[in-house]
Amino acid sequence: MGTNWTIRSRRVVLPEGMRPASIRVRDGVIEGIGEWSSACDDDAGDLVIMPGLVDTHVHINEPGRTSWEGFRTATQAAVTGGITTLIEMPLNSIPATTSAAALEQKLACAAGKSWVDIGFWGGAVHGNLGELAWLFDAGCFGFKCFLTPSGVDEFTHVEAGELLPIMTELARLGAVLLVHAEMPEFLNDAPREGRNHYREYMKSRPYAAENKAIELLLRGSEETGCRVHIVHLSSCEALKAIRDARARGVAVTAETAPHYLSFQAEEIPDGATEFKCAPPIREAANREALWRGLREGVIDMIATDHSPCPPEMKERESGDFFSAWGGIASLQLSLPVVWKEASARGFHEESIARWMSAAPAALAGLTGRKGAIAPGCDADLAVWNPEEEFTVDALSLLHRHKLTPYAGRRLRGVVKRTYLRGRLVSAEGQPTGSVMRREAAWRLSRAV
Ligand code: ZN
Repeated sequence: MGTNWTIRSRRVVLPEGMRPASIRVRDGVIEGIGEWSSACDDDAGDLVIMPGLVDTHVHINEPGRTSWEGFRTATQAAVTGGITTLIEMPLNSIPATTSAAALEQKLACAAGKSWVDIGFWGGAVHGNLGELAWLFDAGCFGFKCFLTPSGVDEFTHVEAGELLPIMTELARLGAVLLVHAEMPEFLNDAPREGRNHYREYMKSRPYAAENKAIELLLRGSEETGCRVHIVHLSSCEALKAIRDARARGVAVTAETAPHYLSFQAEEIPDGATEFKCAPPIREAANREALWRGLREGVIDMIATDHSPCPPEMKERESGDFFSAWGGIASLQLSLPVVWKEASARGFHEESIARWMSAAPAALAGLTGRKGAIAPGCDADLAVWNPEEEFTVDALSLLHRHKLTPYAGRRLRGVVKRTYLRGRLVSAEGQPTGSVMRREAAWRLSRAV
């Protein structure tokens, strides 16, 4: 296929819904949507063609902790899973992306190593208030902060008193603040007993820790006008506060993660530290309430929080949930994990495209470029079979370390091919992803 070509399917997920259609691509960009009957170069039959997934919550850890994960392995997993755009978190690389210089290091390090298009969030940490404007100008897409210790020393958390000055500054810049929302005073990190019991771990990070943090953020947003985004929401008890705040006009969005939507605390065996993440996976009733939050639109999107580490850091031998690293890696599996659960609850492919492509693209300011099959958008496409099932073989995962709570799980939805800016891409091919800066993203993506 040259640079001008057409793909068609009986099931194309367009912004207005799923229907038979053909997609005309010119120079990597979607030129137009036509009738299904048009001549085509790639006939996808009945496979679903969806906008490539956009994952705005991933930790790739390079440079500095590349033995945990790196750009090559993470983005090969992503492209295999139908993801075409990543926005990477400002921790756990060294340096953390908390200065303009560190962002430049990130961009240089990722160039030529990424199978998908990739951009970066900056970090708001203790003491870098004066750096935020520089970092935003340098091209980060927005900012992430923690209200509780992050787990790594170089990414300090923000004290309650530092939050309002940061929010005031970001409101001035017009930047979004993404927040890990747990209040430290509600956490109990060091119980003496029951350290390998999942129930004890769950109790150590209670609903209240999230609920109180979210209340604080909503008040801060109301006071400063700063747009705030709650990452990896786990507590269903916070949904009402988010819904009410939004009704009052507070600029708040929320994401949850595939593991909160698929696992339940009741089934997590003691010592199974591969399930550890923070905030924790909670009870089945909480999971169902999160699904209601998605149905009602209170939760806007789903992002993986892909956060790998070397297997020994998971403390699988001791089974100690409190000393194990928290984080679940799911870049390659997010679509089939979510689709299996969503389809069982009566959702359709359009919802997946909204939660996993359009809404995260909007969060990153990429609407009109990414996250939709529409004229003028990059021709980023995930072609997949929603009826096909498979059992997860951990060894088939391409991210660096294979320990996963999804091993042996039966999932639904198989990605058949992925197009990035009009090119068929796969983990076996060359990395053709571009590194993106905010605003300049469009121009840079054309340069490849
Ligand atoms: Zn994270």
